[in-house]
Amino acid sequence: MIPGTKRPAWVEVNLSQLRQNLQFILQHKPAEIGWLAVVKDEAYGHGAAAVSKVAEEFGANYLAISTVDEGIDLRRHEIKSPILIFGERTTAELEICVHYGITCCVSNLATAETLSKIASAHGKTLSFQVEIDTGMSRYGVPWRSAASLIRDLTQFKGLVLEGVFSHFAMSDELDKSFALEQLGRFHSVITSLRASGIKPLWTHMCNSGGFLDLPQAHFNLVRLGILPLGVFPSKVCKRLPGVEPIMTVKTSIAALREIEPGDNVGYGLRYTAPARRKIAVLPVGYGDGFPRLRNKGAVLIRGQRAPLVGSNSMDAVMVDVTDVPGVDLWDEVVLMGKQGKEEISAHEIAEWKSSVSYEVLTSWRARLPRIYIS
Ligand SMILES: *Cc1c(COP(=O)(O)O)cnc(C)c1O
Repeated sequence: MIPGTKRPAWVEVNLSQLRQNLQFILQHKPAEIGWLAVVKDEAYGHGAAAVSKVAEEFGANYLAISTVDEGIDLRRHEIKSPILIFGERTTAELEICVHYGITCCVSNLATAETLSKIASAHGKTLSFQVEIDTGMSRYGVPWRSAASLIRDLTQFKGLVLEGVFSHFAMSDELDKSFALEQLGRFHSVITSLRASGIKPLWTHMCNSGGFLDLPQAHFNLVRLGILPLGVFPSKVCKRLPGVEPIMTVKTSIAALREIEPGDNVGYGLRYTAPARRKIAVLPVGYGDGFPRLRNKGAVLIRGQRAPLVGSNSMDAVMVDVTDVPGVDLWDEVVLMGKQGKEEISAHEIAEWKSSVSYEVLTSWRARLPRIYIS
């Protein structure tokens, strides 16, 4: 059946589609700017090592992650590219990052001092980047005081400021007014730094939404996370034809039963059959990252939508297959992705659970094996 696993539930990751996506995306990118592949959280659940290898083939200038373990894992998979780690680090983490050649963000003098000591202890020069908080109030140096702090950060022995960047709070929605406000704030910091002769190698602000919709904010590097995976950051951002999702989540029908009018399905008896129905039981559940739903949502079987009935549990989803002709035990089921002419997108699943496509992609748990197709 499927190589590498015997469990009839898995995540298929299509690496040839990833290559195609990158071809279309990078054609759209001005040649003179670089690109950084954001592969945090296992490349949004697709597998960071596999996605990073393809990103390297396509000349990614940088990879980015969020935890030190993610960086170590990439190095253990022979990933040689520069790796940027987003967020703040403890002293212990800084040491490990230096050991594995992971570039850290610095947003205060204390971190710079620690990093500078590590640099001199190892007789190394260490690169760092500075995130500028232009309005998200998340990580980074608040933009109002950024220029003067960055000037101080460049004074530390053994440290080289390699990049300054910022992050959009709202880049993929129709209303770009706050994004433009943030861009103005970022420009003011860059201008002030230039006046002091500070011109780092990389200046960057765009995530996928910014890359698509805000070309005036490209600077010389764009950070792409969700777009190469074939999922657009929102329903209203610019589309690039040919870019398609690379992840399909599949399972098979593990049991079939006929139920009578008045019979119930699942915990809490949330579904009562109005007539004779045929129910298929799928051997997956919220333990695999399938959202917990109640009489909502659907899966694809024989190219048709089969609606969920009752509440799904940790290891079982029940769907109504009364109207699916020829339905049989162990038929292939698509939980997310395409089957025939039908598709269940990450965006659709996000709507069922009032979330965003990003969370849907990252929710598929490690207990679903990743099967790579290339
Ligand atoms: C996650 C992240 C990105 C990637 O965003 P996408 O919308 O997936 O392209 C870029 N920059 C930062 C700082 C991030 O945290």
